[in-house]
Amino acid sequence: MESADDVTEDIREPLLRPADGGPLPEFRPGRHITPAEADAPGTTRAYSLTGAARSDTLGTYRLAVRRIDGGVFSPVVHRGLTAGARRLVTVPSGLFAIPVDHDQPVVLLAAGVGITPFLGHLEPPASTGGSVPEVVPHHGNRNRRTHPFADRLRKLDEAIARLTVIDHYSRPDAEDVIGVHYSAFGRVTAEHIDEELIRRRARFYIRGPQAMIDAVTAGLTASRRPEVRHLR
Ligand SMILES: Cc1cc2nc3c(=O)[nH]c(=O)nc-3n(C[C@H](O)[C@H](O)[C@H](O)COP(=O)(O)OP(=O)(O)OC[C@H]3O[C@@H](n4cnc5c(N)ncnc54)[C@H](O)[C@@H]3O)c2cc1C
Repeated sequence: MESADDVTEDIREPLLRPADGGPLPEFRPGRHITPAEADAPGTTRAYSLTGAARSDTLGTYRLAVRRIDGGVFSPVVHRGLTAGARRLVTVPSGLFAIPVDHDQPVVLLAAGVGITPFLGHLEPPASTGGSVPEVVPHHGNRNRRTHPFADRLRKLDEAIARLTVIDHYSRPDAEDVIGVHYSAFGRVTAEHIDEELIRRRARFYIRGPQAMIDAVTAGLTASRRPEVRHLR
């Protein structure tokens, strides 16, 4: 591990570099890697890659790890891993991909750190001018203190004309102002989805706790029949 920055009070962003200093395999946006925990043999956990996906000299992988109190792996990343720590890590893998050149809009529904694979999809085209479909991410967080990547998402929103980020705060602090720091009060629900997007046969991608996936999926399918993809 080269370094690790705190993104929010419970999300940390480790930067990993190969021990031999050589280049890393490129990867498709949305892929994850699986680090192993040295103190718990056989224990591995998957983490989405959030940084640059392609480069002739790709030297680092970037992750975002939310601390789950009582968890085996994530507390170690927050408390135990310091610069210079070594772990075995798999090459990037996974099947998640959103269509990049498509007429149907894409609706991304994410809670907290669940936004990571979507960041990987949106940042490369923003910097290289690649193709992006019309994308509406609904990102749920408690408040600004727990809102990961707010600045990065705001920059993307400004850079990509076809992107509209909608931030939901379920427990805003007194200083969090609706219309300035976030767009909607409460959790992300099916009722927040613009009917026009459903009429235009938007594709839905949901990433978050099972309770959120179940509630949003039930809400969407109760009266309407969009195409819903589960990303586990
Ligand atoms: C493809 C994929 C990509 C992932 N990407 C990320 C990522 O980018 N960032 C990230 O932080 N995590 C990500 N995860 C989740 C991650 O792999 C771990 O499950 C998570 O870090 C918890 O591991 P742990 O060892 O700390 O907790 P565990 O020891 O596995 O679990 C401890 C307790 O916490 C509960 N728990 C486990 N996971 C969660 C959760 N997410 N929310 C609430 N409670 C939970 C368990 O039910 C258990 O009771 C991803 C998972 C998958 C499958």
